[in-house]
Amino acid sequence: MAVTEPKPATAEPLPATYRAAVVHHFHDPLTVEQVSRPELEPGQIRVKVEASGLCHTDIHAAHGDWPVKPTPPFIPGHEGVGRVVELGPGVTEVATGDRVAMPWLGYACGICDHCVSGWETLCLEQKNMGYSIDGGFGEYAVAYAPYVVMVPEGIDPFDAAPLTCAGVTTYKAVKVAGTRSSDLTAVFGVGGLGHLAIQYAGIAGGRVIAVDLIDEKLKLARELGAEFTVNAAKEDPVEAIQALGGADQAIALAVSPKAFEQAYGSLRRGGTLVFVALPADNDVTVPIFQTVLNGIKIVGSIVGTRTDLREVFELHRAGKTHVIREVRPLESVNESIADVEAGRVAARVVFEL
Ligand code: NAD
Ligand code: ZN
Ligand code: ZN
Repeated sequence: MAVTEPKPATAEPLPATYRAAVVHHFHDPLTVEQVSRPELEPGQIRVKVEASGLCHTDIHAAHGDWPVKPTPPFIPGHEGVGRVVELGPGVTEVATGDRVAMPWLGYACGICDHCVSGWETLCLEQKNMGYSIDGGFGEYAVAYAPYVVMVPEGIDPFDAAPLTCAGVTTYKAVKVAGTRSSDLTAVFGVGGLGHLAIQYAGIAGGRVIAVDLIDEKLKLARELGAEFTVNAAKEDPVEAIQALGGADQAIALAVSPKAFEQAYGSLRRGGTLVFVALPADNDVTVPIFQTVLNGIKIVGSIVGTRTDLREVFELHRAGKTHVIREVRPLESVNESIADVEAGRVAARVVFEL
């Protein structure tokens, strides 16, 4: 019988401190500084981060935009991808050297009704990378082994990073929307999420109409398969989409309540509106009468499960998706946030660590 040597728990000497981007106060610029290396608890792993995407959620986190806020100081980032370099006590799910993705769903209980029914993303015990626990904006990050997702060999880590949130979130949103062949699917907001939503809606068979305020983003939308585009700064998207018969599904990815209302107005009878974006201004107005008479469905969609992310990686490995990303150093974090807010980024910024 062949005897296999157990893999060492630590692959390389680890520094006592490492570089990370830290939020100390909401609205203050992040500081890139040395942070000390925490000890691993049972079930945890340490990952040497290679690539880490900047999601608009990280900006909301740094600003304290939402009703439930993170507690500074904290390290944002929930699109971290890297190699496992250390295993905490009891870890069996991954080995050192594996390349893993560390998504928003950093931990869940695994036994509640939500977890066991395939809706781990609704678990009340969940911990979120870059929000309630430190995230991927550092040279190293700590994650819970059962909740990382293996990145298949052959996928560039700089592609894997945006897929880890923007990809899985929009892949799930299209599933939740129920897009089927020949449906008209409206995608509001062609940013990090939207540029992938267009592709997943197309893979599901939808004909896509993309809406944004910036012409370059609409040009990209057409390159990625959108059949129609509307610049909502120049033209009323409700009129434009109703002129095509109305959308079977509208996916709200723009950080603006107004866009949610336009997405609602763009639906045909029986249509589905999926809420995904999370603007600081938390309220939208929808009419009761038209919702009832038109049989409209409104559904919220939060990220995706580990299975969804595995499917996202498989689609990418099969060459069915294109990730548009710009690689920048972590030191550009504040400038990058300003660029995302101003719409100056084609789709996603990914930090190289
Ligand atoms: P982003 O900034 O990259 O993209 C937003 C896009 O919306 C930009 O292209 C912008 O030009 C466009 N836009 C802004 N106002 C618009 C308007 N009125 N009409 C049409 N387009 C408009 O942001 P992102 O990283 O794609 O994230 C989008 C939102 O989704 C954020 O609020 C983020 O927090 C949220 N999010 C939600 C989930 C979830 O699970 N539900 C997951 C990830 C991100
Ligand atoms: Zn995100
Ligand atoms: Zn649970």
